[in-house]
Amino acid sequence: MAKVLVIGAGGVGSVAVHKMAMNPDIFGEIALASRTKAKCDAIAASVKERTGQTIATYQIDADDVAATTALLNEVTPVLVVNLALPYQDLHIMDACLAAGVNYMDTANYEPIDEAKFEYKWQWAYQERFKEAGLMALLGSGFDPGVTSVFATWLKKHKLDTIRTLDILDCNGGDHGQHFATNFNPEINIREVTAPARHWLNGEWIETPALTIRENFDFEAVGPKNMYLMYHEELESLAHHLPEIERIRFWMTFGDAYITHLTVLQNVGMTRIDPVIYEGKEIIPLQFLKAVLPEPASLGATTKGKTNIGDIATGLKDGVEKTFYIYNICDHEDAYHETGNQAVSYTTGVPAMIGAALMVQGIWKGEGVFNIEQFDPDPYMDMLNKHGLPWQVKELAGPLAF
Ligand code: NDP
Repeated sequence: MAKVLVIGAGGVGSVAVHKMAMNPDIFGEIALASRTKAKCDAIAASVKERTGQTIATYQIDADDVAATTALLNEVTPVLVVNLALPYQDLHIMDACLAAGVNYMDTANYEPIDEAKFEYKWQWAYQERFKEAGLMALLGSGFDPGVTSVFATWLKKHKLDTIRTLDILDCNGGDHGQHFATNFNPEINIREVTAPARHWLNGEWIETPALTIRENFDFEAVGPKNMYLMYHEELESLAHHLPEIERIRFWMTFGDAYITHLTVLQNVGMTRIDPVIYEGKEIIPLQFLKAVLPEPASLGATTKGKTNIGDIATGLKDGVEKTFYIYNICDHEDAYHETGNQAVSYTTGVPAMIGAALMVQGIWKGEGVFNIEQFDPDPYMDMLNKHGLPWQVKELAGPLAF
């Protein structure tokens, strides 16, 4: 039974730690560290109440590599599950190398002063992890994460080759707030306001943010507007599944969200460069984060469902076929089980599953890996068993748009 250290005590960290504690046969000991120890203690209290398991908690600034290395040497986990922010990824990978510990995360590295996420920084750790005999698994959340596993499962079981892949991310939940984001507001707004990019015949096609829109009828949610966006799994899927001609990512947003975001952008509140306010430098987006509701606080009021999945068109035995594979998750059920809404739940459960496959040696290797490099079957089985059941159906033909 393995000892793991989770870093980051937000909504995703909370779900992952609750789900690990529900599987004590896999996770013998769980430690949780974050910048604010009181948040770790609150999660530990909830875990104790819901599962009877005890979680050790620690304060850490994960940007401090020496302090994080010392913590790893003290706790001696076999795996660090990084559920802090993308800015911490490289620092935590450095600490893992220094202490000889395996690594996993759910979001790829992004420099704090540039809204640009790319795998190149983390892929550059390949040789160092290999030489150290350690494994790093990148992106075991829902998207990235489950959506890439869905693609490899379709390729393994339903299609010989995939020609087009569309990832459709719908949050049909209502949190009752005028404007709030369902995961870290700073990361969410940086992602949504970045130019859209999709992969077409070996090239990236860039379009201005939130300008390409389609309406799609999501099961259990209904018709929603969804917008073409860039998302990090497009890069790794294009790299690892080079046969795919076109890969696109779509996310739904309500009109109120788009209106608020447009105003915030127009007045400069989403800027990530420093401005002087009363003689002090502040970053407008970080200030905005401070006044918006914490995603972890939205659980109690959020109602509705998420529906996230992939539509893939390709050939099977020479005949073109299209499959839709997706999961529907209910916000209130997720809250009832772990005290967090479905966006945290749909990320925290796959984080637990990725960690479980690593610590049991079911997924193993030396170096830095994306999730689509492994056999999807054990992951898909665990999704069904641990709260994110999926469905697959054949569609009459490819998407009309
Ligand atoms: P939150 O902002 O709710 O939580 C982040 C946590 O990390 C907070 O507890 C925060 O501490 C802590 N943290 C921040 N900086 C540091 C630091 N330097 N050292 C130690 N701890 C730190 O975010 P979420 O839980 O919503 O998201 C967590 C991660 O999951 C993010 O990387 C996000 O991008 C990713 N994600 C991935 C998804 C996927 O499907 N792949 C979907 C949704 C999220 P404090 O409380 O003090 O601020």
